[in-house]
Amino acid sequence: MFGLLKGLGVTLKNMTKPKVTYNYPAEPIPVPDRFRGIQHFDAEKCIVCNQCALVCPTDCITLTGKRNPDPEKKGKVIEIYDINFEICILCDLCTEVCPTEAIVMTNNFELATYSRDDLFKNMQWLHDNNQNIRQENMSSKPPGAAGGAK
Ligand code: SF4
Ligand code: SF4
Repeated sequence: MFGLLKGLGVTLKNMTKPKVTYNYPAEPIPVPDRFRGIQHFDAEKCIVCNQCALVCPTDCITLTGKRNPDPEKKGKVIEIYDINFEICILCDLCTEVCPTEAIVMTNNFELATYSRDDLFKNMQWLHDNNQNIRQENMSSKPPGAAGGAK
């Protein structure tokens, strides 16, 4: 009997406290701006320097470049840019080393899927992942993108 009353006491005490849970997924979970989420990639900014792939501790970035089709311009343009999210640990190193902010972090984290193949994301998918870009990288914001943690 004493146990029951004690339990009810704890329940009543906590009923008046502010809620610490979220109605997820109906409501988005607020995360800090430095949250390490799924990357956004901007092909226009990539100079094919390979630094992101070299620093990646899990070798999950695959990239290739080709000669710039514009004869007036030097250097390469990106041809293939894929990230395998089966093994990406979202460590942020690729975005830290990128000299042009072609690859930047977002606050997006929802990758759950029934197929491992779906975790292999190509350049177009990474480009379209342009919502909730980290505030400090908003200079890389594409038209229509929304940035920052709410
Ligand atoms: S976040 Fe880390 S593991 Fe993922 S692609 Fe970038 S460097 Fe590699
Ligand atoms: S570090 Fe940046 S510019 Fe260099 S290849 Fe990677 S994404 Fe492109």
